[in-house]
Amino acid sequence: MHVNVSHLLKEPSGAVRAYEVAERVALEDGPHEVRGSVKLFRTDRGLWVTATLESSARRTCSRCLEESAQPFEMVIDEETQPDDAVMESDGERLKIDDGALDLTEAVRQYFEIAAPMKAVCSPDCKGICIGCGANLNDTTCGCGGVARDPKWGALLELAPSGR
Ligand SMILES: [Zn+2]
Ligand SMILES: [Zn+2]
Repeated sequence: MHVNVSHLLKEPSGAVRAYEVAERVALEDGPHEVRGSVKLFRTDRGLWVTATLESSARRTCSRCLEESAQPFEMVIDEETQPDDAVMESDGERLKIDDGALDLTEAVRQYFEIAAPMKAVCSPDCKGICIGCGANLNDTTCGCGGVARDPKWGALLELAPSGR
């Protein structure tokens, strides 16, 4: 994910540019659509980067165990300098190379931080029935939601149905 900054780097400090970006970025678990706005502010030493990027991560719902894409936001707010002035620090999340600002590494790191760990597919997910395991978002089960004691499992299998 690159933004051309060659012109901006020739401008005096205080100059501002804004861009919209939308790109698939290759991350550890595959490509992810990343989109949002990037604002660049020319500083004495380099560029101040303010970006608000949206992406999504596939997560398993902790209630119904279905996988779904969970949208989330990454907010990048840090300064970077052209390569020849780079100090050895910070793990260089933002790189300026050949007049282009490379956001890929920053996206990679912010993705790790910002992606939701635990997720529910929707705030009103009904989860699964503790009695029969049916996904209650899809169906209304008739089992009454009573958890079977495994001890009685074998007997219940033998019992006449239609409880
Ligand atoms: Zn769910
Ligand atoms: Zn049930």
